[in-house]
Amino acid sequence: MATNRTFTMLKPDSVEKGFIGAILEKITTSGFRIVALKLTQMTKADAQAFYAVHSERPFYGELVEYMTRGPIVAAILEKDNAVEDFRTLIGATNPAEAAEGTIRKLYAASIGENAVHGSDSDENATIEGAFHFSVREQF
Ligand code: UDP
Ligand code: MG
Repeated sequence: MATNRTFTMLKPDSVEKGFIGAILEKITTSGFRIVALKLTQMTKADAQAFYAVHSERPFYGELVEYMTRGPIVAAILEKDNAVEDFRTLIGATNPAEAAEGTIRKLYAASIGENAVHGSDSDENATIEGAFHFSVREQF
């Protein structure tokens, strides 16, 4: 089902560095409507489940540590072609390879601490949104 919605997290490094406002501004001025939003912190079990697809990768342990070390901003975003357009807006996983003007180019420090998450498919956007938000928190 094409939903025109995607899911994002402003990761702990973005919150720690005071980038919440700047990144949300970039997202909304790029045409995305915020339909769910919260400051929250994932438990180890949450992060292990969220990133279960990466459980065999060498960076999995560090990824879980990073994503649980402080609060994140979780959000669901709406726009035509939301998943693909948001991946374009955030840029490559490695900020060193991210295009000029992308969120990761502007705000990410490294491939590990890369500022933001963006869903990679409509199916995962729905799963990830439901992971963080009840139906009553989605508008
Ligand atoms: N990651 C990492 N090292 C890598 C690849 C990924 O630490 O070599 C982390 C990084 O935080 C990334 C997350 O794991 O955002 C999920 O990886 P994925 O390949 O799904 O990248 P994304 O979809 O976030 O661009
Ligand atoms: Mg991914």
